[in-house]
Amino acid sequence: MPLSKETARQLVKLQEQDKVIDALQADIDKIPKAIAEIQARIEARKSRLHDTKKRAGDIQIRRKEKEAQMAAKEADIKKRSGELNTVKTNEAFRAIQSEIEQAKAAVGDLETAILTLMDEADQVAKDEKGISAELKVEEGKDLEEIGAFENDKKGLESKQAAEKAKRDALVPSIPEDVLKHYEHLRKRKAGGAALAPVLKNMCGGCRIALPPQVVVEVVKASKLQTCEACHRILYMPDAAAPTPAS
Ligand SMILES: [Zn+2]
Repeated sequence: MPLSKETARQLVKLQEQDKVIDALQADIDKIPKAIAEIQARIEARKSRLHDTKKRAGDIQIRRKEKEAQMAAKEADIKKRSGELNTVKTNEAFRAIQSEIEQAKAAVGDLETAILTLMDEADQVAKDEKGISAELKVEEGKDLEEIGAFENDKKGLESKQAAEKAKRDALVPSIPEDVLKHYEHLRKRKAGGAALAPVLKNMCGGCRIALPPQVVVEVVKASKLQTCEACHRILYMPDAAAPTPAS
């Protein structure tokens, strides 16, 4: 593939530009995860409130059950008390009286249970109020934080768009086949490093010693030289350094 020193310089610039774009992309990619974490926090708080509301509902149901049981016992006491006037024998009288006593004791237990449930309901109502208030405050903060992240993302995206425009401006000066080769390598190399500088006659990408003829060709920069080991496009840092004011 034919090359020129100018093309080699443009390629290095292109890689520098691509690194800037990639770094911005890495920062952009972190943001959705950060937002998802905040959203999970919001959901966890909401589910705590939901659980508390459910507990309040359960207590209400249990209280109604106890009240119905108590009403049934009280009706039973009333009925049995009426029967006391009509019984014929002492034995039957005592039996009914004993049933009434038992029912009264049950009513007493139910009353205690209902009072306990009422206390529980008060506590749960307090909890609910607390969680509700906390949720409002914390959610406000969290939503602000999400907004800040979204702003950051927009800022990074517009910065990246500007860097992409700079990259696009470099592209026309690079022959299509060289560019294609560069893109192909870029996708396969860690950190998108498709180019490697020649450093002390070694490949700067994989550190292998380069044959002298390859180094000579890289200095000439008349055709594309790649490292035999890592296949990166080789360039001579001094010759390929971006010229100022270009
Ligand atoms: Zn190499």
